[in-house]
Amino acid sequence: MVKKEIIPNVVHVRRQKPEERKHNFNEVALGYDADEAFKEASRCLGCKKAPCVKGCPVGIDIPGFIAKIVEGDPLGAAGKIKESNFLPGICGRVCPQENQCEKECVMGKKHDPISIGKLERFVADVESEEGSSRVENGTGRDKPAAAVIGSGPAGLTTAGELARNGYPVTVFEALHVAGGVLTYGIPEFRLPQWVVDREVEFLKSAGVEFVLDFVVGKTATLDELLREYKSAFIGIGAGTPMFMGIPGENLNGVYSANEFLTRANLMSGRTFPEYDTPVKRGGKVIVVGGGNVAMDSARTALRMGALEVNIVYRRSRVEMPARIEEIENGEEEGINFFILTNPVEILGENGECTAAVCQKMELGEPDDSGRRRPVPIDGEFVTLEANTVIMAIGTNANPLLPSTTPDLKLNRWGYIDVDPETGLTSIPGVYAGGDIVTGSATVIEAMGAGKAAAAAMIKHMDG
Ligand code: FAD
Ligand code: SF4
Repeated sequence: MVKKEIIPNVVHVRRQKPEERKHNFNEVALGYDADEAFKEASRCLGCKKAPCVKGCPVGIDIPGFIAKIVEGDPLGAAGKIKESNFLPGICGRVCPQENQCEKECVMGKKHDPISIGKLERFVADVESEEGSSRVENGTGRDKPAAAVIGSGPAGLTTAGELARNGYPVTVFEALHVAGGVLTYGIPEFRLPQWVVDREVEFLKSAGVEFVLDFVVGKTATLDELLREYKSAFIGIGAGTPMFMGIPGENLNGVYSANEFLTRANLMSGRTFPEYDTPVKRGGKVIVVGGGNVAMDSARTALRMGALEVNIVYRRSRVEMPARIEEIENGEEEGINFFILTNPVEILGENGECTAAVCQKMELGEPDDSGRRRPVPIDGEFVTLEANTVIMAIGTNANPLLPSTTPDLKLNRWGYIDVDPETGLTSIPGVYAGGDIVTGSATVIEAMGAGKAAAAAMIKHMDG
C-alpha cells in the first residue's frame, strides 16, 4: 500500500482586498478555481472512518465528494453532496465548518484541516455553471401530500427530502421570496442572492411547490392546512427582534438588526432613492452584539457609507459567537471593537439618536451557557457618538402561528416543544425544526432538524 504524501498547508482562497470590498456588496471570498480546488482536494487522506463526516449534521460523504474533485469530476462531486445536502452553495459559504467537519478532520491535529467548506462551494458553483445534477423525482400521485411552513434552511431541507422520496410537497412562505434568513438576513457579500435562488430552483426541479405571500396563522390556519395535507413541518424560524429595554431605544435611528438587514437586503433600501424603502446611511454607527448578525449589520452599514462603525459587545473577544473568519474580515475592513462594554442608555436630540452611554464590564463566573458572565465595573462608562444604533442581541420566537394553533405545545420561552429525535410536536403528524425549536442557531443545524423530521414524516404518512 502506498503511503499518502502529507501536504500540511491549506490552499488559501482568494478574497477581495479590504480597501475595495468595504465599498461594495460583492462577495468577499472569491472561491477556488479548478487548479486550487484540485490542490486542496489532493491533501485529503480519504480516511476510512472519516471523522469529518461525523462532524457534519447532515452526514455528507466528505471523502467521497473530495475524491471526485481529485478525479476531475466536480459534477459527480455535486451529485455525491446532494445525496445528503440540497444546499451546498449556501453551506459552503456560511456554515461554521471550523466548529464542525473541519474541526474533526484528522489533518487538523498537526496541520491545517482540509478546507471542506470551500471545496463544497467550488463544487456547487461548477455545477451551476455546467448544468445541474439531478434528483430522482419520484413524486407519485398515489402518495399523500405534505405541507412545509417556512422556506428557511429547515423548510427547504424537509421539502427536498420529501420530494426525493416521492411525496408531493408544498412550501408555504410568508414573504414574497423564498430562503428565510438566507435571503432577508445574510448579506450579499457573504451569500449572494443568486446562490439561494439557484438552490431553490433546484428544489423546484425536484418537484417542490412554493406558495409565497402565505402567512400560516393568517392566510390559513395550520388546522385548515391539515385537512388537505397528511403531515406538516413547521420551520418558521425565530425572527422577533429583542431589545435591551434601556432608555432611548425608541429614538429614531435605533433599529433591530432584523429590520436593518431586511431593509438593506430584501427591500433594496441600500439603493435608496432608487427604491423607496430608506434606511439610515452614513454617519457613525454602533452595533450592539457579538454574533454573525452583529458582524453582518456592521459590515452592511460600512458598505452603505458609514464614517465609523463600532461593535459594542459585553463579553470578551473569545466569547464572541460570530465566525472567526467574519470577525477577522470585519477587522480588516476597519470595524472597531469595543469589547467588555455594554450600552446602558441611548442619548438623543430632537427625537434622533446621537450617542450611546456604555458601561465597562469585566468577566465573572461562567453562566448557564458556560461562558464567563459579564459583570459591570462600578462607575466606569464611555460615551460613543452614534446617529444609528443597531441592536443585534438575539431574537425570539414569532408567536403568530402558535397563537392560532392552541394544541401546539410550547416551552417556557415560546419555542415549539418537540421530540428531539424526530421533531414530532404535540399534534400528531405535525413536526417542527430549526430556530423555532432551538432558538437562533445555525443553517446546518436547521437543515439537520429538517432531515430528521422528513424521515419521521415519511414513516407517519406511510402509516
Ligand atoms: P429561517 O431561516 O428564519 O426561516 C423561516 C422562514 O419562515 C422565513 O422565511 C419566514 O418568513 C417564514 N415564516 C415565519 N412565519 C411564517 C408563517 N406564519 N407562515 C409562513 N411562513 C413563515 N447561521 C450560520 O450557520 N452561518 C451564518 O453565517 C449565519 N449568519 C447569520 C446572519 C444573520 C443576519 C442571521 C439573522 C442569522 C444567521 N445565521 C447563520 C443563523 C441561521 O441563518 C439560522 O439559524 C437559520 O436560517 C434558521 O433556519 P430556519 O429554517 O429555522 O428559519
Ligand atoms: Fe479528508 Fe480530513 Fe475527512 Fe480525513 S478527516 S477524509 S483528511 S477531510
